[in-house]
Amino acid sequence: MLIVQKYGGTSVGDLDRIQNVANRVAKTVQEGHQVVVVVSAMSGETNKLIAYAEHYTSTPARDEVDMLLSSGERVTAALLSIALNAMGYKALSMSGRAAGIVTDAVHTKARIEHIDPSGMRSAIDEGKIVVIAGFQGVNESGRVTTLGRGGSDLSAVAVAGALQADLCEIYTDVDGVYTTDPRIEPKAKKIDRISYDEMLELASLGAKVLQNRSVELAKKLNVNLVTRSSFSDAEGTLITKEENIMEQPLVSGIALDKNQARISMRGVADRPGIASDIFGALASANVNVDMIIQTVGQDGTTNLGFTVPKTELGDAKAVTDRFIEKNDISAAECDDSICKVSIVGVGMKSHTGVAAKAFKTMASENINIMMISTSEIKISMVIQEKYAELAVRSLHGAYRLDQ
Ligand code: ADP
Ligand code: ASP
Ligand code: MG
Repeated sequence: MLIVQKYGGTSVGDLDRIQNVANRVAKTVQEGHQVVVVVSAMSGETNKLIAYAEHYTSTPARDEVDMLLSSGERVTAALLSIALNAMGYKALSMSGRAAGIVTDAVHTKARIEHIDPSGMRSAIDEGKIVVIAGFQGVNESGRVTTLGRGGSDLSAVAVAGALQADLCEIYTDVDGVYTTDPRIEPKAKKIDRISYDEMLELASLGAKVLQNRSVELAKKLNVNLVTRSSFSDAEGTLITKEENIMEQPLVSGIALDKNQARISMRGVADRPGIASDIFGALASANVNVDMIIQTVGQDGTTNLGFTVPKTELGDAKAVTDRFIEKNDISAAECDDSICKVSIVGVGMKSHTGVAAKAFKTMASENINIMMISTSEIKISMVIQEKYAELAVRSLHGAYRLDQ
């Protein structure tokens, strides 16, 4: 088999752990498989580099940030290759560029446009273990780009797709995907199999065990995706097609996203096209808007509220300020002490009362719900950040996920 193995930050957190990874890779090769490895930066490294950049300005040039951040994964790729070579294996490290990963030009959150796998392919054919620096690519003009936080997962899935690998294993510091973050609720249970759609919702709604875009791509390319621990031999979680799962639970998991902020605009001109103008401008500024609520305001105006990732609040505020200058809105307030808790499950499609139970659970803990949004397989609520963990644990219990 051709197996792509991705090792996350904690798994390569120090030199001994990189040796542990080298041993695991060597074992897989011993078992007769071809292995392509994708690595993250050592844990804490990306945050450290971001802080370095922000030492000089709060708005460092994004292409330079990418140049800086991409170095983190290169260090690990080279070290792992050195360790494997020292053990007598033929390994070759590659940057995103050398691996043929071409992206668009949206620095710090670039999308992969295509992959030219010929460099990887010929190294594999020469019997080498290819070790790729995750999280990065190169744009058409040759500048280094990065794929957004947690982006090494995406690198791994994209490489697995381009090489038509038999399996893509994501090694991390937990045994697999749990009913909720086990750091918040120790009673969380490991899920053996989960559908691409549910995993995509969980990941998009904050379960960072897998980056959401990696799940989206795995579904699109039909990549066999497994998450498991690099510290044990426990079987992991298979992310697969819905029809491969025998029994669909009503609710599969609870996700928490603390990287959320809200902007509330008051006195918004009530004319056709205003929403298109505001949200069009936000989109052009590459701000990801999530929930939107519109209510009737005073004097023929409306109020519009929306949520964005905390990390994009500055960019969003710059856009709304332009509309204040143009007198299209009278005021815009920011609140970054909010979070979003979500309940995900394909079983919701065919059951009633799932949302009512969520609201009742919040009420019984005296937690005020500020915004609600639902889809066929999820219910999301925006609440004050200080209640985040309490809300997750209460919902986990209410849907009996600990049973
Ligand atoms: P890596 O550095 O290996 O990419 P991450 O820190 O990105 O690892 O993701 C693993 C972490 O995801 C776990 O330590 C866990 O705290 C968190 N997590 C959040 N939600 C879940 C979930 N539903 N199941 C498992 N882990 C989760
Ligand atoms: N090092 C990058 C990050 O911390 C990418 C990754 O680990 O997946 O976001
Ligand atoms: Mg991760």
